[in-house]
Amino acid sequence: MATPLMGQMMTSPLTISSLITHAARHAGATEIVTKRVEGDLHRYTWRDAEQRSRQMAQALLKLGCQPGERIATLAWNTHRHLETYYAVAGSQMVIHTINPRLFPEQIAWIANDAQDSVLFFDATFLPLVEKLAPSLPSVRHFVLMTDRAHMPAETSLKGLLCFEELMAAEDGRYAWPEFDENSAACLCYTSGTTGNPKGAVYSHRSSVLHSMAAALPDAMGCSARDVVLPVVPMFHVNAWGIPYTAALVGFKLVMPGPHLDGKSLYELFEGEKVTFSAGVPTVWLGLLNYVKANGLKFSTFKRTVIGGSACPPAMMKALKEDYGIEVIHAWGMTEMSPLGTLSKLNARQAALPADEQQHLLEKQGKVIWGVDMAIVGDDGRELPWDGQSAGNLLVRGHWVIDRYYNHPESPLASVDGKPGWFPTGDVGTIDQDGFLQITDRSKDVIKSGGEWISSIELENIAMAHPDVFEAAVIALPHPKWDERPLLVVVKKPGVELTREQMLGFFEGRIARWQIPDDVAFVAEIPHTATGKMQKLKLREQFKDHKLPGI
Ligand code: ADP
Repeated sequence: MATPLMGQMMTSPLTISSLITHAARHAGATEIVTKRVEGDLHRYTWRDAEQRSRQMAQALLKLGCQPGERIATLAWNTHRHLETYYAVAGSQMVIHTINPRLFPEQIAWIANDAQDSVLFFDATFLPLVEKLAPSLPSVRHFVLMTDRAHMPAETSLKGLLCFEELMAAEDGRYAWPEFDENSAACLCYTSGTTGNPKGAVYSHRSSVLHSMAAALPDAMGCSARDVVLPVVPMFHVNAWGIPYTAALVGFKLVMPGPHLDGKSLYELFEGEKVTFSAGVPTVWLGLLNYVKANGLKFSTFKRTVIGGSACPPAMMKALKEDYGIEVIHAWGMTEMSPLGTLSKLNARQAALPADEQQHLLEKQGKVIWGVDMAIVGDDGRELPWDGQSAGNLLVRGHWVIDRYYNHPESPLASVDGKPGWFPTGDVGTIDQDGFLQITDRSKDVIKSGGEWISSIELENIAMAHPDVFEAAVIALPHPKWDERPLLVVVKKPGVELTREQMLGFFEGRIARWQIPDDVAFVAEIPHTATGKMQKLKLREQFKDHKLPGI
């Protein structure tokens, strides 16, 4: 057999440190601005961030940390968290971002599963960490991410270290090492709404490829002219990769710290001339409320990615029509780093009538290069892309996990008998144009008389009612139909809205048999630590609710 001719190009491993060295050399003067936990506005450049990341890497080595060790964070989006990201992964350790909104027992469980050796945390979480410390035997060092002046006078944490002191003790004369690009870089846990959370271990290679794909025009489409404020936290799937994409593209990054209320965000958006943002739908509810109540407008904010749960079309419409903000609807999950699909139009679709364009943009969108998807029936056979056939969604690609941390068994399944696909647990349709529409999590679908009703579709309709603040639909058992939908609604403050008016709103908007059987008005819908509606809790709360006619 002839010997194949090999390419004759330079190769070097795709490492995360290569992103920030690029930013320091080629976007060195571009700013990173942080509204810090201490309350001040901190400002420096990518050049400074890279220098300090090297210093923090030196500090970790001095603490005796080794390649492969898991270094945890309980922290907001700040420049210090960014430095920790790069210092840890850049020196071949593994950055484990923990969601501080989880229950303390869950945090301890996750830190023990990961066997974290160092825990970096913001001052906000000092009481939490003091409480957790006795149940974290693997943690050798606790580092408070602040300066000496803000260190607590007293704490039960023995040998508590000060971030800025560790930093100041180092000179930054450290060369980022080169190593196998398949080394672990980041560890993120799924939210674990059912059972214990599971860890997804991203590699340097998968993270760099994900960052490149995220930057593409038909993905997030950010350029060096953008000013980007990730509202999505760095403890929620790496803020959807924005800290990495930021360095790759070299754009200005604005970090909101713990200040996520409508007023603080609005002031930061305006003050720093933010053009692009990303977050879950619930965040925009808060910001839009503030802006609306105060009769404000955005002067530079033009585009945002919304994902993590379905973006209600009514929210998309309000952002576009009232504020001129384009929404890029995105779907993904922790197990896929997280980007899977984004809703962007091609030239032909962009020439369609406005309502047809809108219809496509409301879907979760098309996959980006690097990921493939398929929908299958219960027999594992691939279903047609007709926009009608709903099936279980599977994915594969460069930044999709092939196993969970500490779980040797493979989670993968087959499509048409071919193995190597990750089952997402989502149900959706794909249309002729390749646009995915998520109809539900498989456990949230409402199975009524042998047909499926999409809870997301019903929620989207309810959210379009001007008096509705938030809406969730859950399945309740029904003796004749198996399951029927119950609509749970939070009204906007001060409005009158009756059950009959609410149900009447569905007439003509959906098939009669899909209209919910009942409405429950509540003061609040419970949310998970990542801002999703907690349907498990709602099902528990309404398990004794009597639907009319039973
Ligand atoms: P993330 O942390 O990115 O939200 P999780 O792993 O916590 O990822 O949750 C992923 C799940 O969230 C998906 O499997 C899907 O059910 C849901 N999800 C994410 N984005 C969307 C979206 N745009 N529309 C509907 N559901 C979504």
